[in-house]
Amino acid sequence: MRTFEYERAATIDAALARLPQPDTQLIAGGTELLNWIKEGIEAPQLVLDITGLPLTGIEAGDSGLRVGALETMSDVQADRAIQREYPVIAQALVKSASAQLRNMATIGGNLLQRTRCPYFRADVSLPCNKREPGSGCAALDGGDTSRHAIFGGSRHCVATHPSDLAVALAALDASVVARSARGERRIPLTGFHRLPGEQPDRHTELLADELIVAVEVPAEVAARRSHYVKVRERTSYEFAVVSAAAVVELDGHTITRARVAIGGVAPRPWRLRNTEVELPGIDVGDTEGLRAAVAESFGEASPLPGNEFKVELAQRATVRAVQDAGATT
Ligand SMILES: Cc1cc2nc3c(=O)[nH]c(=O)nc-3n(C[C@H](O)[C@H](O)[C@H](O)COP(=O)(O)OP(=O)(O)OC[C@H]3O[C@@H](n4cnc5c(N)ncnc54)[C@H](O)[C@@H]3O)c2cc1C
Ligand code: SF4
Repeated sequence: MRTFEYERAATIDAALARLPQPDTQLIAGGTELLNWIKEGIEAPQLVLDITGLPLTGIEAGDSGLRVGALETMSDVQADRAIQREYPVIAQALVKSASAQLRNMATIGGNLLQRTRCPYFRADVSLPCNKREPGSGCAALDGGDTSRHAIFGGSRHCVATHPSDLAVALAALDASVVARSARGERRIPLTGFHRLPGEQPDRHTELLADELIVAVEVPAEVAARRSHYVKVRERTSYEFAVVSAAAVVELDGHTITRARVAIGGVAPRPWRLRNTEVELPGIDVGDTEGLRAAVAESFGEASPLPGNEFKVELAQRATVRAVQDAGATT
């Protein structure tokens, strides 16, 4: 049995002073970290509890949305302003994990969860470049790739990112606010999770000495008409096979502006930029028109043997998300 030390951080500065030290892991809700320790994915010497830090608060107003990193998934989902002005966030959260997990799990921890690739999570040693750099990729080497990426993978790793919230935030042009002893910086959510390239073991752009303090959605994003569609193998307590988040602005029934991101298909939430160019001018009830606009983003899809079905499924989920966003009153 491996042991570790446990400490509670009294202040943000005290946590930041500890962070650069190797073998230190922060713990918030603990719903990911404790699994990693049990599975041997992480073996920290110090577990630093940040739950006492003043990193809560939900501010929704004229200057946009700011949610503290230690807000729980439950509290954010239940917030009236979020439900009214940012329904895509509330829907993504209520479709995540279980009520018990959402009561513990935090917004910051949710964005830092790691892939659910079964080879990465295995309790026996299997080739996995993300877990053990240079060891290979059991998925690409003849394994089951049905849950893997159709966009953004590399020859070293084709894992997908599992956070539902991240997909909603990507469609909202949100940023992660990261603080270190050097100050604060904002990392766009669309670039927060790294593509694997040659280095699949680097998961995000967050540096070792940085703490997530909040996520922010800019004021110019009109999110009242937004919707999250999650396709999964059972209707609760299950990760997405594919998902789609859409935020639309309408003139009557005609789309004037759209932001669309999909999940379960790439190492990060995947924005459909070509689709966003095509959607303005289309009637939100014109299913064929929407399908054609969505298809514009799938020419670059690279399905693997075993996950070709995601190409069609993700397009259908996206059309549904856009239509349901448009139907929001
Ligand atoms: C059975 C199960 C089903 C699930 N289903 C879903 C699902 O359907 N959809 C979904 O989106 N998620 C799902 N999850 C994942 C769940 O949402 C995450 O486990 C949870 O959000 C992690 O938050 P936490 O606060 O518990 O993180 P922790 O376990 O406390 O931390 C996770 C990581 O984040 C770091 N960290 C935490 N907070 C900060 C911070 N503020 N700054 C810097 N680093 C920080 C920690 O050091 C650690 O490395 C599921 C999890 C389980 C166990
Ligand atoms: S897809 Fe990535 S996480 Fe999965 S086995 Fe391959 S290297 Fe590991």
